[in-house]
Amino acid sequence: MRKLVLATGNRNKLQEMKDLLQGLPLELLTLEAYPGLNMPAEDRTTFAGNAAKKAESVSLATGEMALADDSGLAVDALGGRPGVHSARYAGEEGNYEANNLLLLKELNGVPTEARSASFICAIAVAVPGDQTYLIEASCPGRITESLRGKGGFGYDPLFFFEEAGKTFAEMSPEEKNRVSHRGKALRRTRILLERLLK
Ligand code: IMP
Repeated sequence: MRKLVLATGNRNKLQEMKDLLQGLPLELLTLEAYPGLNMPAEDRTTFAGNAAKKAESVSLATGEMALADDSGLAVDALGGRPGVHSARYAGEEGNYEANNLLLLKELNGVPTEARSASFICAIAVAVPGDQTYLIEASCPGRITESLRGKGGFGYDPLFFFEEAGKTFAEMSPEEKNRVSHRGKALRRTRILLERLLK
């Protein structure tokens, strides 16, 4: 069976990837199978650029197909920030609490109707001897005025999804996957992989 390395160290993302790619005729590997493998710096200016860089680097190092995502939050009132810097918005990589507090602070006084935002997810699949395939999807929402819900990760407690009348952190993983940026991108990636495996 062909192997696909899921090139992320983020446990939440890994779970969402596994949930949405299950059942494909592929052995899904994580970076735990490759101790000592270093991920490259995420220094590109676009989500697609960073996703491609990560997927290509892991594919080259392992000799297998590799899938990487780069994702983040673009807030309209902040001119698209934090964008590709979402993970380290408040300085420290992956400090979700500090990032959420900074976001609330920056949007202090911004009225509800001007708090629109989108989650964006780029997925790259690097295939040895072939090309790197890129898929991008987004999910529209708005930033709440306080944290709501305990599920998910990152900015989920501040991301209000209008159709559900809840934040992502108030939704079950299945509900979130049905509508989220990563859910949409992974379902399209699944179709791509089915085609590549034929
Ligand atoms: P990456 O690991 O460089 O792609 O950084 C992604 C960052 O964007 C995460 O650390 C989160 O802060 C944010 N992010 C991406 N996807 C989500 C999501 O589904 N929910 C909440 N935050 C997310």
